[in-house]
Amino acid sequence: KGEIGGSGDQHYHALMMFTKVDKSRSLQDKFRVAMLSMVKHGDFMEGEVLVLHFVSDPASKELGEKMLQEFLLDATFKYEVLFHDVVDLTHKLFPIVEAMQKYFSAGSGAYYSDAIFFLSVAMHQIMPEMPPVLVLTDGSGPLCWASLQWMCSMGHHQKGLNMLGLESLPQPWPLFSTSDRMMCLTRIVQLDLDLKYRTNIRDLFKEFDRFPPGAVIGITREMQPVYRHTFWQYRKENPRTRVGDPPPEGLPGFNSGVMLLDLGAMRESALYNQLLKPSNVAKLADQYRFRGHLGDQDFFTMIGMEHPELFYPLACGWNRQLCTWWRDHGYGDVFQMYYRCEGLVYIYHGNCNSPIPDY
Ligand code: UDP
Ligand code: MN
Repeated sequence: KGEIGGSGDQHYHALMMFTKVDKSRSLQDKFRVAMLSMVKHGDFMEGEVLVLHFVSDPASKELGEKMLQEFLLDATFKYEVLFHDVVDLTHKLFPIVEAMQKYFSAGSGAYYSDAIFFLSVAMHQIMPEMPPVLVLTDGSGPLCWASLQWMCSMGHHQKGLNMLGLESLPQPWPLFSTSDRMMCLTRIVQLDLDLKYRTNIRDLFKEFDRFPPGAVIGITREMQPVYRHTFWQYRKENPRTRVGDPPPEGLPGFNSGVMLLDLGAMRESALYNQLLKPSNVAKLADQYRFRGHLGDQDFFTMIGMEHPELFYPLACGWNRQLCTWWRDHGYGDVFQMYYRCEGLVYIYHGNCNSPIPDY
């Protein structure tokens, strides 16, 4: 323990926003449903570890630690729990996402505290990259760095160290300060709390392997006509557009309840990083006349209209949203075309406080 890659375990990273949970009984109930169902169906192989990341404030963290003790009791797999301070992350995020906040946040100003709703957008810059510092430790130059990157992608960092002729690293390893649990953090799934798992969460990670070249994020389509509404003006000016139309032909936008973030691909994608720049955000927002208030999912939806190849479309069953608010607010006639989701449901999403079926 404490040595780099000491166990050689393969880590599966999942992150949840977990703030103000101490203040909301309803959020605590959702968290219970999510974690108990995740534990019930969770099944991992020997040598695999599920790392649960929570973005949290001190009071939520304290409560979360207590609740997790109970919820994880029956886990048959190895796990680790990591809390990240929401204030620290917000501080890192704000300069990157400030410019997009005015297009995708509630209200008009770019409120500092709202930056956290855009964490997924810049996760590849916020979470520590796998350390390039091994180059220095054995003096074999860039080869070493490339090899470590390969090891990470293979999930065999211990084996890789031996291949390089490094039996062990000097202790304490002087050049890498982050927890070794953050090693090889190249893929992470971000999950809402209002979910109910009906299958092994390990299967969700297999979807990463199905990304086509160029894709950086796996995400399910939005199941309400919310973006038909948001793109109302653009659709009026472009009557033949698919933007905001229902599936399978249309582009209904995305829902952020379940997201696969390929941090390695996000770091490498010149296109994706271009789109993060304030000037490009402004350009697209003007082009599409876009004003929303749903944070990261608005940003992904908007850039997805222009560059669908950045997104791997997760099957609807991976994020079966249950909210029907827009059915009763002017979109009853088209609602079912968006809401329909055929095939197996792997994860229910009780968004807008919708009840989740027991079966
Ligand atoms: N969340 C949180 N604290 C809050 C509200 C939300 O940590 O006070 C997180 C939580 O992970 C939640 C996510 O933000 O699942 C998105 O909110 P929610 O699921 O309520 O939105 P919806 O899916 O209904 O649009
Ligand atoms: Mn939700």
